[in-house]
Amino acid sequence: MLVTAPAEQLLTGFQLVETRCSYCKSTLQESDRVSAYAVRYAGDESWCVPRLYCRTCRSTIGEPTLGATELLVEGRLGWTMDAAIQRTSLTLLGIERVIQSEPEDGRATL
Ligand SMILES: [Zn+2]
Repeated sequence: MLVTAPAEQLLTGFQLVETRCSYCKSTLQESDRVSAYAVRYAGDESWCVPRLYCRTCRSTIGEPTLGATELLVEGRLGWTMDAAIQRTSLTLLGIERVIQSEPEDGRATL
């Protein structure tokens, strides 16, 4: 089933596997302001968040990638609890979209 929702909504509550800044490697904690780089490749329905940055290292999307929708969002980290299975995860909260790059924006790399 295809679900249409704003990217901010999809990324709110996104469970993070890696909670260190991709640049300076400092460990990020609850309530830290972060920037997250999210990407969804053409033909793929799911988003992934391969990079997370602390406030100091906040980055921008350098060169748009052809065939991918990219977002650079700002938010904070917070614990989300799933009471049913008694598990808490560090997730993205309070997401605001900062920059979006559409699939057709990129250039093919030779
Ligand atoms: Zn950093």
